[in-house]
Amino acid sequence: AQPVAHAFALRAAIADLSELLKVPSLDGPDDKPVRTLSLLFESFSLHAARTKEGAEIMKRCVGELIDTLGRLADGEEAQGARLSEIRERLIEAEDIQDLDVLRGLLLQHAGSLVEAASARRGAVRDAVEAAHLSRRRAEELEAALSDAEEEARTDALTGLGNRRAMLEAVERFAGHDRDVGVLAIDLDHFKALNDTHGHAGGDAVLRHVADLLRGELRGDDEAFRVGGEELVVLLPEGSWQGARATGERLRARLSRAPVPVAPEVEAAVTMSIGVALWTCTLPFEDTLELADAALYRAKEGGRNRVVG
Ligand code: GH3
Ligand code: MG
Ligand code: MG
Repeated sequence: AQPVAHAFALRAAIADLSELLKVPSLDGPDDKPVRTLSLLFESFSLHAARTKEGAEIMKRCVGELIDTLGRLADGEEAQGARLSEIRERLIEAEDIQDLDVLRGLLLQHAGSLVEAASARRGAVRDAVEAAHLSRRRAEELEAALSDAEEEARTDALTGLGNRRAMLEAVERFAGHDRDVGVLAIDLDHFKALNDTHGHAGGDAVLRHVADLLRGELRGDDEAFRVGGEELVVLLPEGSWQGARATGERLRARLSRAPVPVAPEVEAAVTMSIGVALWTCTLPFEDTLELADAALYRAKEGGRNRVVG
């Protein structure tokens, strides 16, 4: 029964080897299955030497090892050729000494297969790592770039878009068959407010007005800070009536309640608004001039009002 038990162990070891080479783990080289196989064969060949049946079983096991290695070496011509040669010698093998030589050759062969597989694993691992690194680097660069672009079109004090952002928006609408409402806004007596409450107080008012605009504007309507205390609102689904109504709503909202300018200090703040309608096939600058002219009239007329 000894040779048969050994044959089972050998077959299990051959299967192990096959699995190792088929499903490479990424943990590096593992020649344990080859060493196990080598030890099993060695002890088996001692038994096999004593009986004819043992030699027969040994011959079958060596044949199975050849088949297994042949499947694993699939596509590799040089290895395939070497295995065919060993197979021919197996057919002619007469005794246990012949088989031992073939076993030695095969195990050597299995060892080099394991090495090749682990080299492949290493190369794959390196490539995967390099791909991860360069992708992470690319993502970092992309994020930094889009941060920088965002920063370049954002007003740092209020978080509103700046003049450049406004011109980018204008660029998007230009040439289309649509009207965009334009509000030119200027805070009233802002110099006096700065004089009374300091620059920090003035800045607090600017932030407050920006929040007010963000809170009141809807949909694609957008406010930009284009100068010190000068703002522009673009209303993409525009009409004269709608633009005037929006301007009036913003003006009323600001004038309704005083604005905190320091702890426990409030100031009454108002703004004047000039309204124009931009037909997007015409130059935007012309419309902005019209809105500014209307704004000037609002100032002339006494401030805290909407004209246009
Ligand atoms: P008007 O009602 O005619 O618009 O009077 P005004 O004082 O608002 O107009 P003017 O253009 O004479 O003054 C604008 C002032 O806004 C000048 C400057 O002190 C102030 N200002 C401009 N930029 C800023 C800023 O970023 N922060 C603060 N706190 N003040 C600013
Ligand atoms: Mg001004
Ligand atoms: Mg002003």
